[in-house]
Parts: sequence; C-alpha cells; structure tokens
Amino acid sequence: MNIPFNKPHLTGKEAHYMYQAVFNGKLSGNGEFTKRCQHFFEERYGFRKCLLTTSGSDALEMCAMLCNLQPGDEVIVPSYTFVSTALAFLREGAKVVFADSMKRNPNLDAQTLETLITPRTKVIVPVHYAGVACDMDAIMTIAQKHNLLVVEDAAQAIDSYFFVGGDYSTPKPLGAIGHLAAFSFHETKNITAGGEGGLLVVNDERFIRRAEIIWEKGTNRAEFFRGEVNKYGWVDMGSSFLPAEINAAFLWAQLENLDEIQTKRKALWNCYYDNLSKVLATYGEKVGLGDASFALPDIPEYATNNAHIFYLIMPSLEERTALIKHLKDNGILAVFHYLSLHSSAFYQSKHDGRPLPECDRYADTLVRLPMYYDLQIEQVEQICGLIESFINNR
Ligand SMILES: *Cc1c(COP(=O)(O)O)cnc(C)c1O
Repeated sequence: MNIPFNKPHLTGKEAHYMYQAVFNGKLSGNGEFTKRCQHFFEERYGFRKCLLTTSGSDALEMCAMLCNLQPGDEVIVPSYTFVSTALAFLREGAKVVFADSMKRNPNLDAQTLETLITPRTKVIVPVHYAGVACDMDAIMTIAQKHNLLVVEDAAQAIDSYFFVGGDYSTPKPLGAIGHLAAFSFHETKNITAGGEGGLLVVNDERFIRRAEIIWEKGTNRAEFFRGEVNKYGWVDMGSSFLPAEINAAFLWAQLENLDEIQTKRKALWNCYYDNLSKVLATYGEKVGLGDASFALPDIPEYATNNAHIFYLIMPSLEERTALIKHLKDNGILAVFHYLSLHSSAFYQSKHDGRPLPECDRYADTLVRLPMYYDLQIEQVEQICGLIESFINNR
C-alpha cells in the first residue's frame, strides 16, 4: 500500500479553461474567469463582495490592512493555527494576543475570549479549524459588545455552515458572518486555483471601496474600469493581490464540480468516522490513558462538516508518534500540525506568557489521516483496519 497524505484533484476541465484564458488575450487579473469565480461565491454563499487573491495568506493580509490598525492595537488569534493568521496582523504592527483552544475541538474558546479583551483590542480572528465553525454566536456577541471587528480565517472552510441562534433551517455559510473573511485555494484545500490562490470576502459595505483599491496596488483602477472615474491614480496603500487569469480559469473548473467534490470528500470522511467509531467502541479503554484510546473529530451542534480534514486526537505525544510510524511502515502518510504559535521561537517573545494548555495538547496529540478526492473508500477501510491493529497491539 502506498497512500499519500494529500493529492490535488483535477476535474478534467482545468487545462481547457486555462487554454481559453490564454487565448482570450487577457492574461492579467480581474478578467472574465476572475469575475465568473467571484460572482459564483457571491451568488452561492451570499457574500457581499468577493475578490480573488493570489493566496489565503494574501487575503488575510488584505483583511489586516482593511482593519486600519494603529501601533499597539491588539488582535486576538488562536495559537493553534497556521502562521498566516497571526503574521498578517503582525505585519501591520499589531500586538497579537493568543487565545487557547476549546476542550472539545481545536477552535478558539469563545467562553474565555472576553478575558483577553483590553481597551486596545480591535479585532478577533476566529479560525474555523478543519472547516468546522467556531461558536460564531458567542464571538459576534462579544465583538458587538466591545465594538470589535471580526475577521474569519475561513481558509479551510469552503462550503461549510453555522446555524445562527440555533436555527437549523437556515444555516449561514462560514465567511458570511464576520466583517471580513479569507479563504484559501492552496492545493491542500478542498478546491484549488492551480496550487496557490485565495479569496477575500467583504461583508461590511464600509470596506468594499478600500478593498478594491488595496487589491490593485493602491490604485482606483476598478472604479476606472467601471467608468466611475475618468482616470486612475495612486490613492492608498495596497499591493498586487489579484491572481492571473489562468489561476482563476483553473479555479473555475473546480467550482463547476464543487458539489461532486464535496459529496465524495464527505463520503470518505464518514467512512473514517463510522469505521473508527466501531474501533473505539471495541477498544475504547484499551490504552488505559484516560477513557479512550483516541478521540474522533468533534462537530458541535451549531456547525456542519465540509470534510476538509479528518483528524484523531491521540492520548499522548508518544502514542501519536507510534501511530504515525505504524501507518508509515504500512505505506500510509499521516501527518501532524500545528506547532503552537505562542511557544514557537519567533512568536514566543511576542506572547504574554499565559499557558495555553489545550493548544499545546492539540499540538502534541492531533494526527491527520489521508484525505483527498481521489482516495478510495476501500483505502479508507484499510487505513481504519491498520488503526485497529495498532490499538489492538498496544
Ligand atoms: C491554508 C491556510 C492559510 C493560508 O492559505 P494559503 O493559501 O496557503 O496562503 C491560512 N490559514 C489557515 C487556517 C490555513 O489552513
């Protein structure tokens, strides 16, 4: 058996649309495919304004620029996340305040969030880990009370939802709740723009004009192309955040197949979950560390699952290391992440020293199993069989 951890999926139309983009004669950004993709997201998810970006990190940087931070302003980010969540705000001169994760899943703990707020706090950045929603009711209530902006790091959260106010009839798409949101179309995400790509979502009207300007190197070119001004100038901060048309063309092929991609990924995810639930029922007490040999992913009642990541929580770092080795010896690549930001070499000196025990626990014990469109149900069953034999032999 040889199963990689991830493999980018091709729907079959990518090269065709990229070829079209090349011969459309407009190669730079904001062309037909870019507009088509942006329109797709606005229509399907009700996002107020969408701008494709060259990466999820870039979309986060645009969010940070739009927040207009002053030196000493504080931004609350989870410590258990990819570095770009924090870096985007650090680059803008903000002080990053790290939040701990919940006991039940790696998302930031909204119950203790308010204790981190000071008069300098300006922004909260919830990360929807594994595409599973943070408690957005609690977070938005706190933000409103303290007049803070909310930037959703929805890098992993395409096509996932939150049930606002416990209303299960009208789920709200992740990315549509905060003032701003960032998605990633890196090749490791559910859909990709040809390796690298992202999306900025602007839900608050106040930020739309400036977002377009920042996107286009600090020029008002977007207004010029719409005929709203008769020449464009250098009007603000910005950078070159828009992707070339061939990346948008690649992404378009993926968007046309989004439902099929999601259906397949969820089937794989559910196969893992069902098989490993049975393993847990049989061997739950076996390892004798706490009451479980491992824990399955937690999807709170207010969240949906977009099958971005399938993870297990092992009882200890040693058990995780042993499981990864057992899988590797059998040709299967499982990986762990993230190193806690607050205890990393670069961020340690920027952290206020509070212990973040839940974050450290996930950093030590979370393991990700292979999860990609072209994975087969039989392969998932084989992987679950190997996990069962691992548990049985402890
Ligand atoms: C992938 C990811 C990013 C960065 O996205 P890129 O497109 O790789 O720049 C940011 N935050 C989170 C939580 C991610 O998973």
